[in-house]
Order: sequence, then structure tokens, then C-alpha cells
Amino acid sequence: MTHPLLDLPPLTAGRFAAIEDRVARLLATRQDVLITQGEALLPLEGAIRAAAGPGTVALNVITGPYGQTFGDWLRDSGATVHDLAVPFHTAVTAAQVREAFAEHPEIDFVSLVHAEAATGNTNPVAEIGAAVREQGALFYLDAVASVGAEPVLPDAWGVDLCVIGAQKAMGGPAGVSAISVSERAWALMAANPHAPRRSYLSLLDWKERWIDGGRKALPHAPAQLEMLALDACLERIESAGAQAVMARHASAAAATRAGVTALGGGLTPYVHEARDAAPVATTLRAPAGHSARELVARALASDPALPLAAGGGALAEEMIRVNHYGPDATPAAVHGSLAALGAALAERGVDADLAAARVAVDGAWR
Ligand SMILES: *Cc1c(COP(=O)(O)O)cnc(C)c1O
Repeated sequence: MTHPLLDLPPLTAGRFAAIEDRVARLLATRQDVLITQGEALLPLEGAIRAAAGPGTVALNVITGPYGQTFGDWLRDSGATVHDLAVPFHTAVTAAQVREAFAEHPEIDFVSLVHAEAATGNTNPVAEIGAAVREQGALFYLDAVASVGAEPVLPDAWGVDLCVIGAQKAMGGPAGVSAISVSERAWALMAANPHAPRRSYLSLLDWKERWIDGGRKALPHAPAQLEMLALDACLERIESAGAQAVMARHASAAAATRAGVTALGGGLTPYVHEARDAAPVATTLRAPAGHSARELVARALASDPALPLAAGGGALAEEMIRVNHYGPDATPAAVHGSLAALGAALAERGVDADLAAARVAVDGAWR
């Protein structure tokens, strides 16, 4: 008997290239798109180590935990790093980026996270991209949490290195990821003696052995199951329509925000302004005197399938994450999450208006 997951025909170079082309269409990019065989941290780290070195002067924008990590890799690569950290309850502005350029005119690399699932904010990449182009700096973007939830347009925004993963709003596998690379980013990497070569982190190896050869022969055995899952997930997005998938995420975010405000009980949106709030996930601030971690644990005890989590690390006591992405970008997931949090608050003697929350969620779903 053949097993549906194990006894598969080999994944061909042609199929691999076709899946890359599908990702390129999703990003509306004419840049080279490379599928990388690992979780998104692989191209995120590979791109920084390839593009940055001791001569690099980087502006690293920190709006959540990933920005912190990029700063560590940049410093480790020998780059001079200027961090621009903004509070997690807001987004960075193009004006702040321009101020940093005025202060440090030698900046030639900018790293930015588009949307942060971990902190619930999203940054205005189109406006920031215009500032980065004026500066002439290389633009590196982590779009793992935004792709599928809101537009990601590397060409229109002047992004040189754009990393995506399928495991969030795309509703796909976590074991493969992709990066789009501009011509000038390839040139910079090729000229960088510190760029990884003959290494699992090496993007240049894949350029030489795969792209430059016309994508005729794969340099390694492909991660077959993940590639098939990625293809299926792209096909599902195409058939639903990417606009419809993004609209579902925007509705989930708007409905969660409206529902929480109507619920009351001291639970509030963590990101102050709706325009700074990510469509991929909504973060909430626990009422004063109540532990976010305990409220989430109680809510999950009532329904373990709810897309709820407490904030990471130091945020665990104050932040609740409603991860309404992928299959959870639905009215049912939002209603269920708010009802369970409202019940957990009520148990602790806090007044929460569950009926008003239900009406507000339905009213805000577009
Ligand atoms: C989720 C995410 C990643 C990928 O990391 P995992 O936690 O392993 O899924 C990278 N960047 C951002 C901004 C993310 O939200």
C-alpha cells in the first residue's frame, strides 16, 4: 500500500520553480524569488549575514522582538547599528526614519519588520520605503506576519530583501519560507567577503547553483512535503482571491478591536491607534491587577482551540494575543476568544458585557 505522505514521486526542479513563480505573483514582484528550506529565520538570518559586514552602517527599527534579533545579527556581522526603538503600542513613522538618516547620514542599510504578530502593530512600509530610497540604503523587510493579511509589495515599496513565511496569515506550512532579492542586493552580497558561502545560510550558493543555471537542477533534495503544502496553500489563496483573504484578516482585527471595546471590564486594545494595529493579530492589555497569562490559561481551559496566547517574555503578565490568522480569521474565532476572555473576567468579579461584545463584533465584520 502506498502511503500518501511517504511514497511520493520526486518533486521536480520544474515544480519547485513553478512554486517560486507563484510566490512572486503573490508579491507582485519581478525580483528573483528564492524558496528557502527552513523556517523564516533561515532567510532572515541568511540575508543579514550576506548583505551586512564591518563596513555596513545600519538603521535597525525595533517595534517588537524580531527587530531585537536583527540588531544582534547585524552587530555580530560587524555592522555599526543604530537602533530606532518605538514603544510596542505604536508604529514607527517615516518621519522618525528620516530623522535617523539626518542624524546618521552614513546609514546604508535599513532593517524593518512589517507587521509584528508578537506585539500586534504594523508599520507603514510604503512611506518608509520612499524615505529609504531617498537615502539610497538597502531595504530589508520581514513580512512573515503581514503576507496574506495585508498587501506586501516589494517592487512598489523599493524593498531589496523581502522575507515571507506561510505559517501565519497564508495558513500554510512553517518549514519553508521565501525571499525576494533585488539586483542591487545580489550585487552587494557578491561583493561582500563576509557573506556565507558553501553554507546552509548561503543565499549566494542558491543564486549560483540554481538561479544562474536557469533553475534546471536543484542543488539539494527539496523539502518535498513542505513544498507541496506551500503550493496547496498558494493555490487556496489564489482561488479564494488574495484580496478576500486579506479582507478576512482586516475584518478579524477590526471586529476584535470593536468587540473588546464593547466588552469593557478594563480589557483594552494594546495598540493605541487602529491604523497602527496589524490585521494578522490583535493584542490586548489585561485589566490592571489581572494577569494576562492567567486570563489566557482560563480561557484556553474552556476551549483549547481558541487562538489565544499571552505575550512573550516580559509581556506575559500584561499582554493577551488574539492570533486571528489563517484558519482563525473568522467571526467564530473572534466571538469565541472574546466570550472566553469575558467569562474569565466575570469569574474574577469583573463586569464584562458579553452581549454588547457580540453585537460589536458582528457590526465591525465587513
Ligand atoms: C512569526 C514571525 C516570524 C517567524 O517566526 P516563528 O515564530 O518561528 O513563526 C518571523 N518574523 C515575524 C515578524 C513573525 O511574526
